[in-house]
Amino acid sequence: MNLGKFRFGGVHPDEHKEAAEIHTTVLPKPKSVLLASAQHVGAPAEIIKAKGDIVKRGEVIAKASGFVSANIHASISGKISSIEIAPVPLGRNSLACLIQNDASIVDDEFQVNSNFMTLTAEEMLKKIEDAGVVGLGGAMFPTHVKISGSVKANCDVFLVNGVECEPYITSDYRLMIEHSHEIMHAINIIKKIVPSIKRTIVGIENNKPKALNEFRTCSKDSDIEVLPLKIRYPQGAEKMLIDAATGRVVPVGKFPPDIGILVINIATLYAIYEAVAKSKPLIERIVTVTGDAIKERKNMVVPFGTSIADIAEACGGITTENLLLFGGGPMMGFTLPDLNRNTVKGNNSIVFLDADKIKKSKEYPCISCERCLQVCPVNLMPTSIAHAAKAGDKEAMMKLDIMSCFECGVCSYICSSKIPLVQWIRVGKDTLRR
Ligand code: SF4
Ligand code: SF4
Repeated sequence: MNLGKFRFGGVHPDEHKEAAEIHTTVLPKPKSVLLASAQHVGAPAEIIKAKGDIVKRGEVIAKASGFVSANIHASISGKISSIEIAPVPLGRNSLACLIQNDASIVDDEFQVNSNFMTLTAEEMLKKIEDAGVVGLGGAMFPTHVKISGSVKANCDVFLVNGVECEPYITSDYRLMIEHSHEIMHAINIIKKIVPSIKRTIVGIENNKPKALNEFRTCSKDSDIEVLPLKIRYPQGAEKMLIDAATGRVVPVGKFPPDIGILVINIATLYAIYEAVAKSKPLIERIVTVTGDAIKERKNMVVPFGTSIADIAEACGGITTENLLLFGGGPMMGFTLPDLNRNTVKGNNSIVFLDADKIKKSKEYPCISCERCLQVCPVNLMPTSIAHAAKAGDKEAMMKLDIMSCFECGVCSYICSSKIPLVQWIRVGKDTLRR
């Protein structure tokens, strides 16, 4: 067995997992939620409700509108007070439903069907599709499409991604500690839907010994392998994890199913369990609220569409006048301009930092030290791509394969001259997309 070797570069940034041992709590129902119709990769969902409609928690408000798309459900019960264009934390604007909470509406409970494992593979997959499950590790790719592709590709390896290597974020860790049995059920659901799977590996980095022990205990009577991995960022990226855990390499331009591997992260597996065992749509998730500028760090179950202002208030408020706010972690997340944003399915964390405490680093010209080349996990030339992006040189950007960059940020992190390489790469990608 390959015990967690890695051939990609990568780095080991300060982990800042201060919220790791904080037990998950539930955010009190917000007064309103703003639910974007574009919370996934692919076509935005089509809103099927109108202003003034009363909706119940869990009811479909927007239907998947294409092969690669996902349903959106009301995350609280109440009245749709407007349908408007709204910014979402992932940088896109989207048509969105504003729901005003109505506490007089009694929410349905989502009970476990104790016979859920007797459902057929097709019935299980349909439940995952109906529930609007998407990749919750950040990719937000519709999960039923991913699983269907893995069935067609006859994947023989199922890799459970329990890495969570991005600094600050601890939401998957809490699920691994608090809901390992549900995740084991989800693993069995996937094995039933994808019958070609012969080997199941749960990859967890060595800095999470409690999670490793939990899964060793849960899986002791099964053929599931629990694999401790050396700590390395961005090992949570699918291609890096596949290399580290199996020694297989996903060729450029190909995807994991092309080499027989299905990868699903922990939060997505938990959502799969809830969809199949409880017929519960994806309406909420654990969000890590952390950073040195929030009064109380928390791991909280938050309904989608909750405003970041409401989340901050539930955590005792902000402790600085000069806030640096991230949706997601500081490496792969997005900076947010203010608290006037609402969560989407992909938000695993909100990080509140005090900008006054962050050491300002001056940017210098490139000294050709090649450190960025050495660490890039997909062997790109970050400095050349950033140069082409600054110049708006589309041909050069394409030649340098800018689209293979998955914006892990390690080149910026390691740069001797403090050049914001990944920001320039994002600018270059935007130029090409336009
Ligand atoms: S070029 Fe892209 S993939 Fe490579 S290190 Fe930089 S951000 Fe990561
Ligand atoms: S790490 Fe920074 S200074 Fe060194 S080659 Fe890359 S861009 Fe230039």
